[in-house]
Amino acid sequence: MQYRELARVYEKIEATTKRLEMRSILVDLLRPLKGRELTCALYLSQGSLRPEYEGIELGVADSLARKAIAEATHTSIEAVGERTRTTGDLGTTAGELLGGTRRLEESTPLDLLEVYDQLTRIARATGPGSQEVKVRILVDLLRRATPLEGKYLVRFVMGTLRVGVREMTILDALAAAFAPEEKEARARIETAFNLTSDLGMIAARLADGGLAGLGSIRLEVGRPIRPMLAERAKSLDELLARMGGTAALEYKYDGLRVQAHLAKDGSVRLFSRRLEEIGPQFPDLAKALPMAIRERPAILEGECVPVDPKTGVIRPFQDVATRRGRKHDLERALEAVPVVLFAFDVLLVGSDSVYERPFPERRAILQKLVKPHERIRVAEERVVTSLEDANDYFEEVVGAGAEGIMAKSLAEGSRYHPGARGFWWIKYKRDYVTHLADSIDGVVVGAFYGRGRRAGAYGALLLAVYRPERDRFETFCKVGSGFDDAALAELPKRLEPFRVDHAPPDVDTGLSPDQWFRPAVVLEVKGAELTVSPVHRAGVGTVRPDAGLALRFPRFTGRYRTDKSATDATTTAELVEMYRKQDRGGSRRAAGERRVRHKA
Ligand code: ATP
Repeated sequence: MQYRELARVYEKIEATTKRLEMRSILVDLLRPLKGRELTCALYLSQGSLRPEYEGIELGVADSLARKAIAEATHTSIEAVGERTRTTGDLGTTAGELLGGTRRLEESTPLDLLEVYDQLTRIARATGPGSQEVKVRILVDLLRRATPLEGKYLVRFVMGTLRVGVREMTILDALAAAFAPEEKEARARIETAFNLTSDLGMIAARLADGGLAGLGSIRLEVGRPIRPMLAERAKSLDELLARMGGTAALEYKYDGLRVQAHLAKDGSVRLFSRRLEEIGPQFPDLAKALPMAIRERPAILEGECVPVDPKTGVIRPFQDVATRRGRKHDLERALEAVPVVLFAFDVLLVGSDSVYERPFPERRAILQKLVKPHERIRVAEERVVTSLEDANDYFEEVVGAGAEGIMAKSLAEGSRYHPGARGFWWIKYKRDYVTHLADSIDGVVVGAFYGRGRRAGAYGALLLAVYRPERDRFETFCKVGSGFDDAALAELPKRLEPFRVDHAPPDVDTGLSPDQWFRPAVVLEVKGAELTVSPVHRAGVGTVRPDAGLALRFPRFTGRYRTDKSATDATTTAELVEMYRKQDRGGSRRAAGERRVRHKA
């Protein structure tokens, strides 16, 4: 397959806002492909070279791309910069400049696999002289590229390929392309994806052996499983009823979710909630795990919380957040912000994929597996069978400073459900008791310029929730409070990579912000209550046919959910559920923050 065919597909996808149309374009692309061509086309269309969890970066900075474009199109770097000020995007600039350049007549068209291999070489080039190697490869590719190919190549290396095909749409397309007759196809493909997080591999198996090709897919060490998620309940009464009268209640630790993979040889890989490799930030955990875990290989999950180095008392989650992405000073951070991993689930031990067993069995295995260690513990838990006991435990947990409890079902079907949010796990937080709505993780899709003291900066952000059934982002509030001066000052820089000059096709709103953003940045807001709104589109058609839901008096909590990607944000269905559950009378009372006193 030639790369130009893929570029044409991107162009078509960019021009449509309809999910069905996008799917059929993808089906036409994928159906004739096989093996490596298929996997590579899929990864490339997602803007990466390998499954996302491998976190491969091309390491191409803006200046490097400008240099390569200038050289390939016989222009100056200044001219590239000048044009980009108008186009707003280096890819478009590259396309335009290539359009005005005579290509070598004898150059052979770019082959898809060749492009993939060259991009891989760009990613692999590290160390002294690597910048020059990257430029050379990019120049060679651009010299042979058509304007359209050049546009997407540059966007790819810059990490701004905005074709917007997300996983859910790709799963639909895979089912339609490779198992069109099978009713169960979509669900089975999604199950395989939840288990492996690797769309390329799944596509190749489907092309080879249809749905039967997925039969041999197993949970494997080193390949993250998509996390199981919790529902909410309005009261402990409801929570217990949902669980059939008995439940295991655990501390809901407020830190970073960690999926730990221990290989047989003792090596450890750690993945975040959004399945990014975070091992390098937690060398202390990687060292402790092989000492604390009695059997290998193993995959377990837990919440990683910072503790006070002197007292062992749990500290606010922000302290772990500062460790993320921090390369220098890591040694110092390790001492200043030690962490403890509270393990709450086990998914694989030895050759046994225990994630399919009911929760009580997994918990028993977990307790045997973990040898308590300074850095690794098993999450606190109590099994309750009455409302009174549930209340007592909740009071105890909240009194100790935790944000709430996680209830786990003990019933027959209480296996680990990868990638699913369901009532097998229910979260119940202290905020609900004070009648304040739960926090909402919203995706930034737009911004409004400030006035007065905020003139010249962004004064408010337009936030959306995610609607997976439609693969769209629907707005629910415009938030301006909760940002202090420092937070406001850093907003433009944080949002810059996602700036677009038109409304993104996957965003639904009745408002026109001054600046649009591609859905990417997730932040946490709280508010007074959810109301029906004529301008916001969250849940439009569910509560009222022509109106959506809006959050009144929204306030930024100060917490960016860097552990969530746009599609991990609060969903429309969750928002609708919160709307239905909210207690109108008390919703305006504020909850006082408590100090965390629980001792690790
Ligand atoms: P939140 O924003 O409330 O943390 P979330 O969307 O990240 O929620 P949920 O599944 O809704 O994820 O809530 C469960 C989260 O709580 C888990 O992702 C995990 O990070 C955290 N957690 C803390 N303690 C536990 C526990 N004992 N069992 C399971 N999850 C726990």
